[in-house]
Amino acid sequence: MESLDAYARDALGRLDALALRRRLTPTVRRPGVEVVRAERTLISFSCNDYLGLAHDPRVKAAAIEAVERYGAGAGASRLVTGDHPLLGALEASLARHKGKAAALVFGSGYLANIAIPGVLVGEGDLVLLDELSHACMLGGAKLSGARTVRFRHNDLDHLKTLLDAEPAAGRRLILTERVFSMDGDRAPVAALAALAERYDAWLMVDDAHGLGVVGSDVSAPLEMGTLSKALGAAGGYLAASEPVIALMTTRGRSFVYTTALPPAAAGAALKALEILEAEPERRSRPLALAQRFAKAAGLPPAQSAIVPLTAGESEKALLWSGILEREGFLAVAIRPPTVPLGGARLRFAFSAAHLEEDVDRLAEAVVRLRERAA
Ligand code: PMP
Repeated sequence: MESLDAYARDALGRLDALALRRRLTPTVRRPGVEVVRAERTLISFSCNDYLGLAHDPRVKAAAIEAVERYGAGAGASRLVTGDHPLLGALEASLARHKGKAAALVFGSGYLANIAIPGVLVGEGDLVLLDELSHACMLGGAKLSGARTVRFRHNDLDHLKTLLDAEPAAGRRLILTERVFSMDGDRAPVAALAALAERYDAWLMVDDAHGLGVVGSDVSAPLEMGTLSKALGAAGGYLAASEPVIALMTTRGRSFVYTTALPPAAAGAALKALEILEAEPERRSRPLALAQRFAKAAGLPPAQSAIVPLTAGESEKALLWSGILEREGFLAVAIRPPTVPLGGARLRFAFSAAHLEEDVDRLAEAVVRLRERAA
């Protein structure tokens, strides 16, 4: 089809002109923090494997054992024949870890967020989401059919104004992240939970970048997250009360109509959660390293394992990324629409597997970068 290809080429041309086209780069992640890209070995500060568990021998052995026992694929959706025993075990562990009565595992965090809002709210209802919430939360909110309004980032007054302005007839769902994926700052979960309670609105916190890295002293009624970051595996989850999880199991479209998480991912995540709980010193490292880096690089104090360095224009972020790459560091440029227009940046993610020396060398390189840019 000529018109089809012409359309695609045209669209790509427009993205190229804005430095917004994206390309794949085959990457081999080695044990530890090294990656090999285009035959170059780099120290990665772009992986979300915060606890270095993706290559942990115990986690890999659990994945292999799961494949040996239950096969490579689940064979069907959970509600047909895909409910292999590791999933129930993983859900019990997740629920316990999160202090909830129950949990449900999804194919990915993205799939969890696509499903959850639509089970709880619909036409005539309201979703209020932090403006920096991940794309999949916005996607789920839109799919739900509820009116979706963004509140200013971490702005409780704005959220309150929106709650006051909306008639309380419908159900109201508030969505935010415990740790914001591209900024590394945290949501005021305790205050949000109190506000939600006061308005009988339901709060969901996406803990994708919090689990295993920052504590969650205050729990939201809906705690979702992913198995793909600190747990080093793949999959998503929701932890909540029994009736909510039972409803999600019956009505969550991206749960019901998709093949169950493969045994390897479930086995790996289950083992990784066990290690996460047993090794507190591992959990404290990513934040400590991020704080060490931010201080040495003259950046605001880190609140999580994620430290952003704003470039502004996409070209500049790409240039900075290239400079660091020549020094042996991988810090992938993050560009719109992943971040707002004019907010292109480098996003450094710290792992328990990083060495202090690597972090210090990165900080020195970033100081040079910033001096050059000034
Ligand atoms: N929520 C947030 C905040 C995320 O950053 C991500 C992944 N980048 C997801 C959800 C999706 O999780 P998954 O990778 O498991 O699909």
